[in-house]
Amino acid sequence: MTALAKIVHPAPEVEAEPELTDGFHLVIDALKLNGIETIYGVPGIPITDLGRMAQAEGMRVISFRHEQHAGNAAAIAGFLTQKPGICLTVSAPGFLNGLTALANATTNCFPMILISGSSEREIVDLQQGDYEEMDQLAIAKPLCKAAFRVLHAADIGIGVARAIRAACSGRPGGVYLDLPAKLFAQVMDAEAGQKSLVKVIDPAPAQRPAPEAIARALEVLKSAKRPLIVLGKGAAYAQADEAIRALVETSGIPYVPMSMAKGLLPDTHPLSAGAARSTALKDSDVVLLIGARLNWLLSHGKGKSWGEPGSTKFIQIDIEPREMDSNVEIVAPVVGDIASCVQALLDGMGKGWQQPPSDWIETVKTKREANIAKMAPKLMSNASPMTFHAALGALRTIVKERPDAILVNEGANTLDLARGIIDMYQPRKRLDVGTWGIMGIGMGFAVAAAVETGKPVLCVEGDSAFGFSGMEVETICRYGLPVCIVVFNNNGIYRGTDTDPTGRDPATTVFVPDSRYDKMMEAFGGVGYHVTTPDELTRAVNEAMNSGRPCLVNAVIDPAAGSESGNIGSLNPQSGIKKKK
Ligand code: ADP
Ligand code: MG
Repeated sequence: MTALAKIVHPAPEVEAEPELTDGFHLVIDALKLNGIETIYGVPGIPITDLGRMAQAEGMRVISFRHEQHAGNAAAIAGFLTQKPGICLTVSAPGFLNGLTALANATTNCFPMILISGSSEREIVDLQQGDYEEMDQLAIAKPLCKAAFRVLHAADIGIGVARAIRAACSGRPGGVYLDLPAKLFAQVMDAEAGQKSLVKVIDPAPAQRPAPEAIARALEVLKSAKRPLIVLGKGAAYAQADEAIRALVETSGIPYVPMSMAKGLLPDTHPLSAGAARSTALKDSDVVLLIGARLNWLLSHGKGKSWGEPGSTKFIQIDIEPREMDSNVEIVAPVVGDIASCVQALLDGMGKGWQQPPSDWIETVKTKREANIAKMAPKLMSNASPMTFHAALGALRTIVKERPDAILVNEGANTLDLARGIIDMYQPRKRLDVGTWGIMGIGMGFAVAAAVETGKPVLCVEGDSAFGFSGMEVETICRYGLPVCIVVFNNNGIYRGTDTDPTGRDPATTVFVPDSRYDKMMEAFGGVGYHVTTPDELTRAVNEAMNSGRPCLVNAVIDPAAGSESGNIGSLNPQSGIKKKK
């Protein structure tokens, strides 16, 4: 248009430019609208700007060095907060790295959403070889609770809402949300965009048990001579701490906590049968399971760990109806959310409740005290190099003095022995390898525990376990988190004493002897300690935790002290062929 034309023709009436939004902003707005304030992830194509913008919009975005650890962080954030933890990854390889954590979250019933960018649908579906081409939705589907893909910006609100509801309602679990690259740049009218967002009302609705189910459960419980309660991590997740304590104390029934349910009631509680676990399982006649599955961790409810077949009756509280009878008959299934079910049982017990026969309580108490007394001298040894017991004895005292610290724990011997030795005093303070017994959760869990709770974190790691996520010490230093890592360094997996029979290579289970993991922490500006006695260990961990800074204590453990596969050596098949002499 010439200048002249401009003068001759009056300018047409200019409409105000409509305000626009895009896919990036709608994802962020949808998460924020639902009270999600933190994203764990690793930046890259096509989600780099999503992370930047989320940070600019006030969300906390914690960038990791590897997606699996970001995913583990999101999963445990879900466990701690009952809100789905968000893990954000790039396409194909980043997605696959996050998928392990998503599958693990699903197995453990933690609410989590893995959001991955993906490549162009048209090219992926015709398999024409796009950048990081992969049909991510199809791959994720069998490994999580639900999987969704959003193709249009106007559907982001619904997509995020569906993901949240799927993750949190019923039995919680992992959800995959596939966001193709093109979606992020799609533009739409801002007001219409805002209206398309959905705030999820009551994402985990109460599910009240049927009165008949409660009456049946109480009948069975009343008939018991040697009743036992088993608290699982579902009970810890449910945040029904007061009701659970009231149920244990009103019923007078001893309880065994599964590992992540430790501290729901303090491990020193008079009704705790944790230290008499074997006797309690074997001799009980009625067992009330609260948010615990009869999987391998409870020997499937049968066999050597339990009484004669048929001698134990099971009552089970679970939100997932299909969990009932999964391994043995459940004589009184109570389907519903734990808070409602436990309250209903309490109400049903009323005033006239008869506590269990005193000889049963005595049996459990005597066994517990005997086991504790047997363990005590092992915990006090000051020998160098340290045994697992002596090092854990030191940490046990530290946790007793700092009951609000969060304990993250993984390894083989380091895990199995710490679970028994370190008493917990508050709910949801012990985070560990969970249902799969997975290695590599350590640093991801530690980061999220610090970020979500603001509490100090003590991370007790086998040297092998630490290796899976060790690079994340840089992440811990970068965000200046109050995490004290203790590496139980016994030069290898299970033990550090194996050799290659041919003499050629290191044995398959050993690491560089006398490694200095403390130097890894120093490399990024954190504080490293190298300790060889329980006294040194105590001093170092106390100093570390008082400082609130990232610290790593390399704790030298006797390379010969561990046992094969920790407490679960029976699961590790060994050749039946005898070596010729
Ligand atoms: P543990 O390993 O500690 O025994 P599991 O993970 O095996 O614990 O079991 C947890 C159980 O808790 C799962 O079966 C899950 O369905 C159930 N669960 C989780 N949250 C709730 C809840 N709010 N109400 C009822 N059951 C729940
Ligand atoms: Mg080791």
